[in-house]
Amino acid sequence: MSREITSFIDGAFVAPRANAHRLPVINPATEEEIGILFEADEAEVDRAVAAAKASFAAGHWRRLSAEQRATVFRRICALTAEHADELCALETMDLGIPTSQARGMVTARVIRNFSFYADHLSQAAERAVTTDDLHQRYVHREPVGICALLTPWNAPLMLATSKIAPALAFGNSCVIKTSEHTPLALARFMTLLTEAGVPPGVVNLVNGRGPVTGARLSSHPDVGLVSFTGGGAAGRQIMLAAAQGFRKCDLELGGKSANIVSDSADFDTALDGSLLGIFANAGQMCFAGSRIIVQEDIADRFIEAFVERTRAIRVGDPADPQTEMGPLAFEAHLRHVLSFCAPQDDVDLLCGGKRADRDRGYFMQPTVLRARSSGARVCQEEIFGPVATILTYGRFEEAIAIANDSRYGLSGYLWTNRLDETMAAAQGMRTGGLMVNSPVMFDLRMPFGGVGESGVGREGIESLRNFYSEEKAVAIATRPFPMPIRLGAR
Ligand code: NAD
Repeated sequence: MSREITSFIDGAFVAPRANAHRLPVINPATEEEIGILFEADEAEVDRAVAAAKASFAAGHWRRLSAEQRATVFRRICALTAEHADELCALETMDLGIPTSQARGMVTARVIRNFSFYADHLSQAAERAVTTDDLHQRYVHREPVGICALLTPWNAPLMLATSKIAPALAFGNSCVIKTSEHTPLALARFMTLLTEAGVPPGVVNLVNGRGPVTGARLSSHPDVGLVSFTGGGAAGRQIMLAAAQGFRKCDLELGGKSANIVSDSADFDTALDGSLLGIFANAGQMCFAGSRIIVQEDIADRFIEAFVERTRAIRVGDPADPQTEMGPLAFEAHLRHVLSFCAPQDDVDLLCGGKRADRDRGYFMQPTVLRARSSGARVCQEEIFGPVATILTYGRFEEAIAIANDSRYGLSGYLWTNRLDETMAAAQGMRTGGLMVNSPVMFDLRMPFGGVGESGVGREGIESLRNFYSEEKAVAIATRPFPMPIRLGAR
């Protein structure tokens, strides 16, 4: 069944425009067309922003009490749980994420995104100070206004809701653009937002290519802030556009994260964690631990076990609950990832490196490369696919130096049983986050984001509160103010 995907503006899907640019939505497991996306052109983006602006001016959302907003958020959680099978199935259809991983990475995270802010809204209070005997001062917090939210294809619903939830929590209206490759689940989610009680115009959706729909949305003069998750090239364009309009801008970009395996680590835990870190969601994760840096005394044993387990990963139909790795999300991306597996002087292919042996679909063999130097292209560029690159180190300082030999710095991983190594990594690794003896586990109380080319800004309650709202410092004189000078008084 092929669906028509159009923009969702002012509480309803717009009719498909006859002259709209049409983009096929393809199921990456079967290569079948499962949808036609009608691209929003500039005029349609302008309508979406105008709807957001009108809803903001009317105040139906921003004037609700914190408790009323929290109630709507709890309804969103309940509806997401009720429709979890459908939402996960849609995400499996256009992204290819295996059913076995979808619940945890899709609906559980959507529910967490909204339940977290429901709780936060009922707890948060502002600062109030008496600075001297003349003033009572307090912070009055206000929404920014219209938020432009732009997200990629690798975790469509989870990433979109990680922006929609804080934007709404702080009283904004917004326009979101998800990736043109994976629009299905978010389109369905729009109707759940309405059913939960989000008023028309508060959340609007536009679809289309980045340089068309995305570029207009991120540079629209009525937009007050831009939150972007995606690649560096688009991120740079967005930051330039934001600068032109003096708009706030949050950039959550790519990664090439180091995964250090010390000789002191619990071997099996480190092996399980390293495999999960690069092959979950077929490696299409910004926080993938894609550079595995192993201590040389255990390198042979670790690499042998890693390759054996990699070969055993069940690649196949993502709808089959037994499947561990589905296809890559779209054909051009498969070609991009395979380009890193071509023979290279400083790299040995240990396993994989080819399309998986299936009749149809963008399936690829999980791949392990051993690099002889950290300068190799496969160690420096984000591959964003099921390709692990292995390097070895001698002394722990070398591991940190290799980890830091990157223009990215998003997540870091360390598997160790030594406190000195833990502390050296915590203090020495140039990264936005570090997980020790654990795969990634998100906690919205904590900042998430990157340094260097991994981004500018952090997602996490403290940063997001100040990003999605403006603080106004109000000072009220507590008695008739004794002016130090009375200008012009005679
Ligand atoms: P992308 O940058 O191509 O696209 C991201 C979004 O921006 C899409 O909706 C796209 O249509 C839009 N876009 C593209 N060009 C644009 C432009 N010039 N103006 C406005 N919008 C534009 O990224 P992608 O290929 O969809 O996603 C993969 C990248 O996202 C990887 O680098 C990955 O690491 C990164 N990512 C980062 C995080 C994080 O939290 N740091 C999370 C997930 C993915």
